[in-house]
Amino acid sequence: MAELARDARRRIELRGRRFPRPPATRVLTVANQKGGVGKTTTSVNLAAALAKGGLNVLVIDNDPQGNASTALGIEHRSGTPSVYEVLVDDAPLASAVRTCPDFANLWCVPATIDLSGAEIELVSMDSRETRLRTALDTYLSERDASGQDPIDYVFIDCPPSLGLLTVNAFVTAREVLIPIQCEYYALEGLSQLLNTVELMRAHLNAELRVSTILLTMYDARTNLAQQVAAEVREHFPDITLRTTVPRSVRISEAPGYGQTVISYDAGSSGALAYLEAARELAVRGVEPDQAPTSTTTTKDDGHE
Ligand code: ADP
Ligand code: MG
Repeated sequence: MAELARDARRRIELRGRRFPRPPATRVLTVANQKGGVGKTTTSVNLAAALAKGGLNVLVIDNDPQGNASTALGIEHRSGTPSVYEVLVDDAPLASAVRTCPDFANLWCVPATIDLSGAEIELVSMDSRETRLRTALDTYLSERDASGQDPIDYVFIDCPPSLGLLTVNAFVTAREVLIPIQCEYYALEGLSQLLNTVELMRAHLNAELRVSTILLTMYDARTNLAQQVAAEVREHFPDITLRTTVPRSVRISEAPGYGQTVISYDAGSSGALAYLEAARELAVRGVEPDQAPTSTTTTKDDGHE
């Protein structure tokens, strides 16, 4: 009953709601070195929710599995212009950007299986850690120069490993969003991830910070989920979103239809949770004390 009441309230609160536009493009990488914790699900559904809230959003699928591309309904057969051509062949990002079928203001740079070779191909290349950053900066400033609407949010979906693909994402982003699954061992590996972010700050991207934690696959009926959530909130009170994402069949079904849950079943509790989380992320992004490190849509090499 409590869940039904909450969903009804959210439906009313979120209906036709427009989210606040950030002062500058926010670039987030969704990271967690564990697989299956909801990185891709979180990337695509927050992106779609922000797009539904009226913002311009780009998802860069940086995982050779191409799951984000699938969920956004974007073609990603081998040979399709993708993040691989951008990283390895210096193709402009614009040449790989596709519009998602369900939202006119949601774009995706797909990943094809070709990307699995990039990890090795990049090793011997110049500026191997900054290639994605350069490509995105150029794309954003070209959009700006041509008078197109700015992109408000960029989400980079990462593979679970810490290779050059993930390093490129950490160099490109200003913010790290960590989805945490409310289950056993959820916190294991978290300190390793935080150390990695510190290393990135020290050596490759001084602007990077963990800005957001989202608790996912939350089952309010189990003590375990409540314990994990309480522990995360205790350690990270300021950056953990109040909204938790429940375990939901609709969320897991949506990618099978090439959709996010936001378009697949907008009234479901999973969609409402992602909409609510997106609103929270957007509101925090414009509050002065929470504002992300200033970023510009012009070309800048402010990172180290
Ligand atoms: P990752 O990208 O971290 O590997 P995914 O986002 O692909 O993780 O999620 C792993 C699996 O869990 C997928 O099958 C996905 O559909 C499912 N899943 C993710 N979030 C939820 C949720 N809130 N409720 C139900 N299933 C979920
Ligand atoms: Mg994934």
